[in-house]
Order: sequence, then C-alpha cells, then structure tokens
Amino acid sequence: MTDIPDFHGPHVDPPLPGHIKLTWYEPTGRVPRVRVVSHTCECRETTYELCAAAGRGFVRRTDRVEENVREIAWTSIATATRIFHQIMHGEAR
Ligand SMILES: [Zn+2]
Repeated sequence: MTDIPDFHGPHVDPPLPGHIKLTWYEPTGRVPRVRVVSHTCECRETTYELCAAAGRGFVRRTDRVEENVREIAWTSIATATRIFHQIMHGEAR
C-alpha cells in the first residue's frame, strides 16, 4: 500500500444523446491575462478549461494532438461555469 495520491483531475463524461452542441470559435485573444479557474484532467487528449478574464467567463478546449484551441463565446462567469459543468457531465460538447 502506498499513500501516493491520485494526481488525475476530473475527466469529462462521454457526450449524452441529445447533448447541447456548443459553438466553438477561434480564440479571440482579446485580453492578455486569462485566469484558468478549473480544468479537466491533462491525461486526456482533449482538455477543457473554465477561464475568467476581465470579469467575463468562457470555456476553452485544447486538443493537444491536433494542437487546436477553440473557445465558446464569452459570457458571464456564472454561465461559463454552468456550461463547464455541463461539458463535464456530457450534457454539452
Ligand atoms: Zn486523468
């Protein structure tokens, strides 16, 4: 037995039937400082990050194999947080 903790972060659930189809845009890069509030486990090919900047929120998706970064339309932090959790639970993608 070891006390090595589990370093995995949260994993996204597979998309559910009828899940919300989000629109993913090219990154705007409109502010230099983006704070990552939470993110999904980096062991997966695709990671999702809940981001906040300038009082707004959005979700960023990074495909590390394709080196492809996309983000949803910027919204309130509350809405972005809700969408992030919907992605986590397979309710949106
Ligand atoms: Zn993992």
